[in-house]
Amino acid sequence: MPLFDRMAVIGLGLIGGSLARAARESGLVGQVLAADRSEDELARGTELGVIDGYGPIEEVVSGADLVVVAVPVRATHEVLEQIRPFLAPGVVLTDVGSTKGSFVAALHEVLGGWSPRVIPGHPIAGSEKNGVSAARADLFADHKVILTPPEDVDADALARLTSLWQGCGATVLTMSVARHDEVLAATSHLPHLIAFSLVDTLAGEDQNMEIFRYAAGGFRDFTRIAASDPVMWHDIFLSNREAVLRVIDHFNDDLAQLRDAIDTQDGDSLLRVFSRARAARNHFSKMLSGQAYVTDMSQKPVRFRLQPGGSVTGDIRVPGDKSISHRSIMLGALADGITEVEGFLEGEDSLATLQAFRDMGVTIEGPENGHVRIHGVGMTGLQAPRGPLYLGNSGTAMRLFTGLLAAQPFDSELTGDASLSRRPMGRVADPLRAMGAVIDTGEGGTPPLRIRGGQKLSGIHYDMPVASAQVKSCLLLAGLYADGMTSVHEPAPTRDHTERMLEGFGYHVHRNAATASVNGGGRLTAGAIDVPADISSAAFFLVAASIAEGSDLTLRHVGMNPTRTGVINILKLMGADIEVSSQREIGGEPVADLRVRSAPLRGIDIPEDQVPLAIDEFPVLFVAATCAEGRTVLHGAEELRVKESDRIQVMADGLRAVGVETTVTPDGIVIDGGQTIGGGVVDSHGDHRIAMAFAVASLRATGEIQVNDCANVATSFPGFVELARQTGIRIDAQEEQ
Ligand code: NAP
Repeated sequence: MPLFDRMAVIGLGLIGGSLARAARESGLVGQVLAADRSEDELARGTELGVIDGYGPIEEVVSGADLVVVAVPVRATHEVLEQIRPFLAPGVVLTDVGSTKGSFVAALHEVLGGWSPRVIPGHPIAGSEKNGVSAARADLFADHKVILTPPEDVDADALARLTSLWQGCGATVLTMSVARHDEVLAATSHLPHLIAFSLVDTLAGEDQNMEIFRYAAGGFRDFTRIAASDPVMWHDIFLSNREAVLRVIDHFNDDLAQLRDAIDTQDGDSLLRVFSRARAARNHFSKMLSGQAYVTDMSQKPVRFRLQPGGSVTGDIRVPGDKSISHRSIMLGALADGITEVEGFLEGEDSLATLQAFRDMGVTIEGPENGHVRIHGVGMTGLQAPRGPLYLGNSGTAMRLFTGLLAAQPFDSELTGDASLSRRPMGRVADPLRAMGAVIDTGEGGTPPLRIRGGQKLSGIHYDMPVASAQVKSCLLLAGLYADGMTSVHEPAPTRDHTERMLEGFGYHVHRNAATASVNGGGRLTAGAIDVPADISSAAFFLVAASIAEGSDLTLRHVGMNPTRTGVINILKLMGADIEVSSQREIGGEPVADLRVRSAPLRGIDIPEDQVPLAIDEFPVLFVAATCAEGRTVLHGAEELRVKESDRIQVMADGLRAVGVETTVTPDGIVIDGGQTIGGGVVDSHGDHRIAMAFAVASLRATGEIQVNDCANVATSFPGFVELARQTGIRIDAQEEQ
């Protein structure tokens, strides 16, 4: 059943023709007839199969149940006058004009009002070409169409018109006429005006021939836009006059500020604007689609193919630690002076945080090849963001920011992607309220969080009911601004990267057994941070070199934070040969070089106090246990079941796929060492650590191992495949078919 029996298109040009073509070809309308002042266009349209036929305007309109006005905006008034006497009683009337206020004004003038079956529309699709010959059925596919219905719109008319556009492949949005004209003034009309003006200015320069001859890509883009239909744009600017003037004035002010910055050699302001603008495209597309910062929707599934055997040698440095990269941005932004970061890992937390600080006026250059330069604004230098701060999927960023923003003089709002928006934030909001913060949450304590600025915070002592590094860090950050002392007691040890980095930035953190405290009112001093290599990434190579005979590998600059070194302690207990040298401190964090040589490993009962210190490293430790002599028993690791995958079960399944039997227990696993690792196909369940663990297992395998679903490895450990291959693991990454 077609949505409309007969569609009348008035004005058979690019847009009217494309809609006619798309609607006809997909059977959405019974018949399409057109009227146009140009007989030639109509004849061509019929010849090209765009329409079923044409005729005088009164004939075309009188039998139609849908009338689409697709003429230039300036002709709308005249066309409405022509069609008015012939509109059938139940007809749905719409248009495609680029401005909507002018169409509604014409409705009032000509039809005496705006009736419920008149639904103005605007497809955000087009081309620099005009006329029916340029019409394409796929012009609207994957584009947006904005409808601006009246408040008393006829629901059935709106539903059918929406289905028509959706059937042409478009996504339909509805908004008010005023909002449409504002939004389009900023996103479409102003850029066209700038293009027309710039190209015209340069074309008038003396050396215009030279300018056009050497025109680079950027300028070519301007000339492409400036090649749009002058008459159409003349109409648009005159009909959307007020909204366009507002946005021109705003732009003029910003342009004047840039001019001043150049004039006064204010490089900081230039950098701030340019780096924020550079990041805008990525940021806004993430925000609009509610995505995390590091998930790449276009990511293709990847499979590892691993040939058996080999040894591991060389001198390498694995990528930087995620938590330290993240905190380097936060503290660098709040410090006095410039913080240079090397070895920065572009993880979800750090990218979300980086953008949020840019939104609060901090200039951040990079990241580029692991280098980030942060122009700190000092503890009180943050500016109110223009809108909500979007934190993607980063729960860490949201919890830490809540603490920081609770103490700022301005209001702020924190939002995130769909999954972050379901996570409860009460754990941080409640103790912050006890400090004097004013925070509104969504239902059940979930984001968005609205934080009222200008509150005076007082230090508290907080006994955390559940050990959490995020809650601790959040309260310490708020404590930097609070009156008196803020102290946090943890029931079990958690990672202490925040405390260490605060010390690294010269802010004293008093630490006494399980309590960390700060006094408010201090300052942070910028410096250089060479982010330690992530021990969780180094762990794969520690095990690889231990189990593969003839291996001798040096890992440089590895983070040796005692809350993270469980993997080294456990491997040493198993008999691994790991030599620690050049111990030093970077930004408050201990680092060292590690030399690992192959050694016969033996099975052990893993001490329970080491479990939290090695929680992320167990997948690869299971591989070490398989290659050891004797039995390895793990207990007290329930948390492993709720990581990116149920890591105990997924590892046990993977090991079985390559011929290794294990016994899974509710809180751990028992692995009898000395079993032969065969070939086989392993499903990593998208868990990067499982995938890398089996890459390591291949060193002791007797047949080829394939690991499926490995695309996530690239986000947690960029360059893993190349580094593994360079050291001697026989790995290939292929796109899955
Ligand atoms: P187009 O290709 O020039 O088509 C407009 C057609 O309407 C032409 O055939 C024109 O005939 C005819 N026409 C003009 N005045 C008329 C009148 N008084 N009575 C009957 N027919 C008349 O233009 P278009 O690009 O399709 O644009 C149509 C509408 O779509 C405009 O309102 C525009 O704002 C909107 N729009 C355009 C784009 C885009 O990228 N092009 C995108 C979105 C929306 P003549 O050739 O004889 O003038």
